[in-house]
Amino acid sequence: MSDNTQSTQKSKISNDDFESPDFYQIDDLLTEEHKLIRESIRDFVKKEISPSIEDWAERNHFPSEMVNKFGEIGAFGPTVPVEYGGGGLDYISYGLIMQEIERGDSGMRSVASVQGSLVMYPINTFGSEEQKKKYLPKLASGEFLGCFGLTEPDHGSNPSGMTTNFKDMGDHYLLNGAKMWISNAPEADIAVVWAKDESGRIHGMIVERGMEGFTTPTIHGKWSLRASCTGELVFDNVKVPKENLLPGKSGLGAPLMCLDSARYGIAWGALGAAMDCYESARKYSAQRLQFGKPIGSFQLIQKKLAEMLTEITKAQLLTWKLGKMMDEGKAKTVHISMAKRNNVAIALDIAREARQIHGGMGITGEFPMMRHMMNLESVVTYEGTHDIHLLILGHEITGIPAFE
Ligand SMILES: Cc1cc2nc3c(=O)[nH]c(=O)nc-3n(C[C@H](O)[C@H](O)[C@H](O)COP(=O)(O)OP(=O)(O)OC[C@H]3O[C@@H](n4cnc5c(N)ncnc54)[C@H](O)[C@@H]3O)c2cc1C
Repeated sequence: MSDNTQSTQKSKISNDDFESPDFYQIDDLLTEEHKLIRESIRDFVKKEISPSIEDWAERNHFPSEMVNKFGEIGAFGPTVPVEYGGGGLDYISYGLIMQEIERGDSGMRSVASVQGSLVMYPINTFGSEEQKKKYLPKLASGEFLGCFGLTEPDHGSNPSGMTTNFKDMGDHYLLNGAKMWISNAPEADIAVVWAKDESGRIHGMIVERGMEGFTTPTIHGKWSLRASCTGELVFDNVKVPKENLLPGKSGLGAPLMCLDSARYGIAWGALGAAMDCYESARKYSAQRLQFGKPIGSFQLIQKKLAEMLTEITKAQLLTWKLGKMMDEGKAKTVHISMAKRNNVAIALDIAREARQIHGGMGITGEFPMMRHMMNLESVVTYEGTHDIHLLILGHEITGIPAFE
């Protein structure tokens, strides 16, 4: 490829004129505030993420400067009360923020989801007043980056089997064990860690970088979420102050509540990735000529586009209604499972179909589909795999758990 072609490609990546599809006039269901929030995050993504994301992903680079920028635009903890530095917004607003950020990149959305739903949410919901005051404002502003340690090398889909544990030593806890596949870990200032006490009950505790015996090795070689950093959390006789235990709730239900909040954001985020791929395919099919006509004039291309838009529209309605149920306190884990599972699956299908519409050009970084597709392979696995969410729904329908 000539240098000329390279520079043409780079300028095209920077030229982000994304508008979201709204075939069923779902905007009518949004308030003016929702639309303003969406527009401001969309503008931010166009300015701060789109021009650089292909380069970051290609270089497997985590842009740490984005942490402060996300703090400035209110992407961290949108539903956390204003008094602790959060946005005090509703769940539709939170969803729209995740949609727009993941439209830019799933790795970038992961940074925001983990910080908001998996670090700020548990501190806000289960933390003491002192913990909230100490950590939440710094997490909201991006001064601190947090991570969430639940998964272990031998316990992924079955977190209840975790072996990370702590002992009561009188004036502190002694933490031992390891967590695996932890988003943000290599750069995090604090970790919300789930570990068993001596009776086997699960508790959350806040572990700070710098505590002796606590390390966060990076996981290398990912072909997915390449602009987000992922690592391990290793605890070798870490002395954790007693005031760092989250006092509000113990048992597996506590981390599962955090996952509900994060999975809700993922349902919206995946929709954003799907929209980006669809829009790219729609525009490309109007411009690309073959056999003397735009490829969009061929029935098979139209079929792909029509099916993509149908799935996006169904997913938009699902997520909007789920957001209302979240705000009303009516959403259950099963509702969130259905939306997360459906939206990630349709986003992956749409990324693949959109990639095909772009022909050979679709495999390059000039267009976003390959990056979205590779990212979505993580999104379909983390926070409960596609199949585990199916089993959660199967359990709800039949009353019979098929996990074991
Ligand atoms: C990029 C990335 C970031 C992540 N970030 C975090 C994070 O920040 N914090 C965190 O705690 N975790 C994180 N995870 C971990 C993620 O949540 C786990 O990978 C996920 O829960 C699956 O666990 P596992 O990888 O051990 O797979 P396994 O549990 O070993 O599953 C392997 C396969 O077996 C299937 N399977 C398992 N049990 C059953 C069953 N009962 N019936 C049928 N099929 C079954 C699964 O569906 C899957 O297909 C991250 C993962 C990735 C890839």
